[in-house]
Amino acid sequence: MNNSKNVLRYIFGKGSISNLKSILDTRTEGDNYVVYFIDEYFKGNQILENLPITNKDEIFFVQTKDEPKTKGINLLRDNLLVKNKINPKAIVSLGGGCTLDTGKAIANLLKNPGNAEDYQGWDLVKNQAVYKIGIPTISGTGAEASRTCVMTNPENGLKLGMNSDFTIYDQLILDPDLTKSVPRDQYFYTGMDTYLHCIESLNGSYRNAIGDAFSHQAINLCREIFLSKDMMSDENREKLMVASYLGGCAIANSYVGLVHPFSAGLSVVFDTHHCIGNCIAMTAMDEFYPNELEEFWMMAKKQNVSIPRGIASSVSEDIYKKLYASTIIHEKPLNNALGDRFKNILTFEKVKEIFRKM
Ligand code: NAD
Ligand code: ZN
Repeated sequence: MNNSKNVLRYIFGKGSISNLKSILDTRTEGDNYVVYFIDEYFKGNQILENLPITNKDEIFFVQTKDEPKTKGINLLRDNLLVKNKINPKAIVSLGGGCTLDTGKAIANLLKNPGNAEDYQGWDLVKNQAVYKIGIPTISGTGAEASRTCVMTNPENGLKLGMNSDFTIYDQLILDPDLTKSVPRDQYFYTGMDTYLHCIESLNGSYRNAIGDAFSHQAINLCREIFLSKDMMSDENREKLMVASYLGGCAIANSYVGLVHPFSAGLSVVFDTHHCIGNCIAMTAMDEFYPNELEEFWMMAKKQNVSIPRGIASSVSEDIYKKLYASTIIHEKPLNNALGDRFKNILTFEKVKEIFRKM
């Protein structure tokens, strides 16, 4: 049975980013500087001018063209090592899932020996991480609330995070003003991650009452948002920030199902990003999640967002083999969705057919 941990503190509300300075001022542990990880989108943005950045602080702009890789995480850590900036009073991450996960991984690595790839798995992190503050600027992945930080190791094709209580943020600042500038399609794809986490979890066998309650509430909010006229109204951006947080708590207490493993296959083979990959994978889930798929299409139609089609409709046999291998490797969620005999259902031919349908 899980002994669940959630984020320790959060501030929610428009303009709440202005509390960052007072939160940092209360820090007494660590040396007197902060390490910032900021989504590259905000380079030169007005928002940075209002952050309490001092000249002792370190700032890294996180690129989002590629999702985090173990090597990139190690390099960022090495960069801090060279500058002897390994004991900050706080790490602050401002951005989407890529940036939030980067901050989590570095906070762990600064206090634990070895490299990022040594901690891909469950409960491998042994020492308390650097104190960290997460400030999401796009809603949906739940990375702000979860106990993992997703990274790919291209050497062995493993896409897995450091699942650990130490990975959870100590403090969140949830400011819905920050998500105003997200492009509409991206807003939908990332927002749908919440919906998909929750429907996958509710359709699985590793259920528990608290995880279910988080999921139900997050799904209800997603319905209100994505079936309304404008998913990006002030009210809906606020709601999606809440849904994302609840969805992250839900998934911390359970597992995903079929969509995520298929999306991970797309990500390993075609470098498809997580959230758009999930939406693409969902289009082929008529056999497993028929009602949810119908609702998913209603939401996409209502918001006038298109989902790319045909990504793997006719690729070589070799590519199908790679897709199969990088999907079927995700035993925990597939077991959650289909039971421990999932490989009898998801034969190579079946998996190929599903990819062809996307
Ligand atoms: P992202 O970090 O991939 O960013 C998506 C795009 O949105 C980027 O181009 C970014 O620059 C842009 N963006 C972000 N905020 C913006 C803003 N306010 N205005 C304009 N543009 C903005 O976003 P994501 O979809 O939140 O994250 C995906 C990542 O999260 C993947 O790496 C995935 O593996 C990871 N993930 C982590 C967890 C977890 O529990 N840790 C869960 C699901 C997904
Ligand atoms: Zn996800």
